[in-house]
Amino acid sequence: MTQFDYIIIGAGASGLMLAEALGKDDFFSDTSILLLDNTSKSTNDRTWCFWEKGEGQFDDIVSKTWRHIYFGGHEVSKRFDIDPYSYKMIRGIDFYEKYLMRLNNYPNITFHQESVTQVEDYGNRVLVSSGKNQYSALKVFNSIFDYKMATHQEKYPVLQQHFLGWTVKTKSPVFDKDQATYMDFSIPQKGNTRFMYVLPFSATEALVEHTLFSKDLLPKKEYENAISGYLKNGLNCDDFEIMDTEQGSIPMTCYDFSEHHTENIRYIGTAGGWAKPSTGYTFMSSSKKVPMLVEYLKTGKALDQLSFKNKFWFYDLLFLDVLAKNNGNGHHIFETLFKNRDPQLIFKFLDEETSFGEDLAFVMGCPTGPFVRALLGRVL
Ligand SMILES: Cc1cc2nc3c(=O)[nH]c(=O)nc-3n(C[C@H](O)[C@H](O)[C@H](O)COP(=O)(O)OP(=O)(O)OC[C@H]3O[C@@H](n4cnc5c(N)ncnc54)[C@H](O)[C@@H]3O)c2cc1C
Repeated sequence: MTQFDYIIIGAGASGLMLAEALGKDDFFSDTSILLLDNTSKSTNDRTWCFWEKGEGQFDDIVSKTWRHIYFGGHEVSKRFDIDPYSYKMIRGIDFYEKYLMRLNNYPNITFHQESVTQVEDYGNRVLVSSGKNQYSALKVFNSIFDYKMATHQEKYPVLQQHFLGWTVKTKSPVFDKDQATYMDFSIPQKGNTRFMYVLPFSATEALVEHTLFSKDLLPKKEYENAISGYLKNGLNCDDFEIMDTEQGSIPMTCYDFSEHHTENIRYIGTAGGWAKPSTGYTFMSSSKKVPMLVEYLKTGKALDQLSFKNKFWFYDLLFLDVLAKNNGNGHHIFETLFKNRDPQLIFKFLDEETSFGEDLAFVMGCPTGPFVRALLGRVL
């Protein structure tokens, strides 16, 4: 059995961010680290977007930036200037290539392509088994996510942000390359929260996604019909070629993932509850949590004692309660919010950076009735 100080399971967003943060920090230069993933991370399996003020640490791999977003609804349809924010996009493959390449600079970090089958904390060592090998480590960081982690309980609703997207190339110019369509609710809701999300790269090329915030996935055909319907009816385009596809599901829940941590095993990324419950955005949230985890590691304290829970957890909980109770209400909530409040406040709130006064301003911009009922449901 080969021994390491740390093992990171999963070389996705959170695993690679953590490996890089440990690798570049002199404090860990004598720490042996094994990174395991069951894939070679050589495909472009996802597109990450996030908003950010000014320059950021990922700018060299950002492939497209928008300074405007579009929100489409039944009553309000508007283009917003989001200055000082911009909406940035990273292709998964660019991130994997850059981060795996960087790890070559750190002689204490080894990457193996192996599928992990078991992880067990024996108190003084953690045993990690793959189909090929057994390893032991003092600490393990695990990013393997399974919905069963959250769905075994009923205290907190578990919704999904689920979507299917096509990168399309059109014959004639149909997209506005200067604005990302953040949410377009001008499509049939069918009792759910359904919207289109469009990332245009040029007037003739864009990633167009049909997205839902709801409990259950749809048959593949339904996402596809919604995309072609939107291109035809919403954008007046029926002559296009599908260049690429992407599909995903991100958990939206306030379930406390920390129940799975132990003294020596820490779940990270989506598996650690780092996906923002009310939006599914996880990339920037991971980039903010990794440095906090690294500083915490230096204290030598038990891994299950670090908590990221704050007041925003409760706001997210009320939102998810509202959405789970009446899933068709989502478009009304978002439309009211975008009618009453600037995207700058919305982004700041979703980044969990607002003061209590700003929280109130945000909440008062939403339809209050459903949230008051959700609040009473939780406190009474
Ligand atoms: C298609 C898609 C688009 C997304 N877009 C956005 C976005 O625009 N903005 C945003 O903020 N968030 C987005 N997300 C959500 C989130 O940012 C990503 O899911 C992100 O990749 C989560 O990082 P992670 O480290 O938790 O998981 P992952 O990046 O999925 O990493 C987990 C890793 O574990 C590996 N693994 C799984 N099982 C095993 C095993 N048995 N043994 C070894 N390795 C294993 C996988 O191969 C993977 O590399 C998106 C998600 C998807 C699926």
